[in-house]
Amino acid sequence: MDNSSSTRVQEFIGDPLSDEPEIDREHLKEVFDDIQGDMRYDHDLNGCLNCGICTATCPAAHYYDFSPREIVQLLWTENLEGIYAAMQEKIWSCAQCYTCAARCPFGNSPGGLVMIMREAAIKHGMDSAKSVLRPFSRVMLKLISTGNQLAPDMINADHFPDWGPNISKVDAPLDLLRQAIPMPTLNTTKTAWEVNLKTSVELFTIWEETGVLDQLETIDENLFDVIEDFMEEKREDLEDWEEEQEEDDDDE
Ligand code: SF4
Ligand code: SF4
Repeated sequence: MDNSSSTRVQEFIGDPLSDEPEIDREHLKEVFDDIQGDMRYDHDLNGCLNCGICTATCPAAHYYDFSPREIVQLLWTENLEGIYAAMQEKIWSCAQCYTCAARCPFGNSPGGLVMIMREAAIKHGMDSAKSVLRPFSRVMLKLISTGNQLAPDMINADHFPDWGPNISKVDAPLDLLRQAIPMPTLNTTKTAWEVNLKTSVELFTIWEETGVLDQLETIDENLFDVIEDFMEEKREDLEDWEEEQEEDDDDE
C-alpha cells in the first residue's frame, strides 16, 4: 500500500467470509465522508489505544452485542464496510449516557461518534434508522403538531403495556405532586405546557430550515405528509389571526 497518501482510507476493503451483499464502495465512502465531515468528528475522535475502558464502563455493552471500542476502532481505521455494517444495528444499542466520554484516556467520545453515525443513517434513509424510529412516530406527530410531547397523565399502564411491572415505578399521585412545581403552567397533568400558535409556526420554520423535516421525509414519508398538512393549517390560522388583529387595530 502506498503510505505516502494523505488519506487513511484503505484501497481495498471487504470481508471475503461475509454473506452480506457487497455495497458499492462509492456509497460506503459517501456515508463515511458525511460522518467524518461532521464538525463534531475531530472533537470526538482523537486517536484510540484500543484499551477497552469505554466498553468496560458502557452499560449497553453489558446487554447487547455492542462495543464502543469496536465503533471507535472502525472509525479510526476507516473501515468503511465495518462502519456501514455497524450502522445496520449496533449503533442503535447506545444509551447516549456518555460514560465512555468521561473515561476515555484519549478524550474521545464514542457516544458522540455514535450520534453522528445515527444522523448519517437517517440522512441516507437506512432501513435500520427507519425501523428504530418507527415506534416514535406517534410521539413525533404529537410533538410537532402540538409543541408538546407526553403529558404526564399519558405515562400509565394503558399507554405503555411494554413496560410491564416497571410502570408501577411511575404510578404516583401526579395531580398532587405536580402542584409543588413552581411554574404554574406545569401544575397540570393533562398537558405539559401551552405552546401558542406563533411559537408553533416559528418551530416549524426552525425544523424546515435546519433540515429536520427533510430527514423526517427520508425516514417516514407518510408522517411527513401528515405533518406538512398540520403546518399548512397552523400557518393559515396564524395569518387569519394576524389579519383579525390588524382589523381590530384599524377599528380602534
Ligand atoms: S454513550 Fe453509548 S457507548 Fe458511551 S457508555 Fe453510554 S451507552 Fe456506551
Ligand atoms: S475510545 Fe478511548 S477508552 Fe475506548 S478503546 Fe479507544 S482509547 Fe480506550
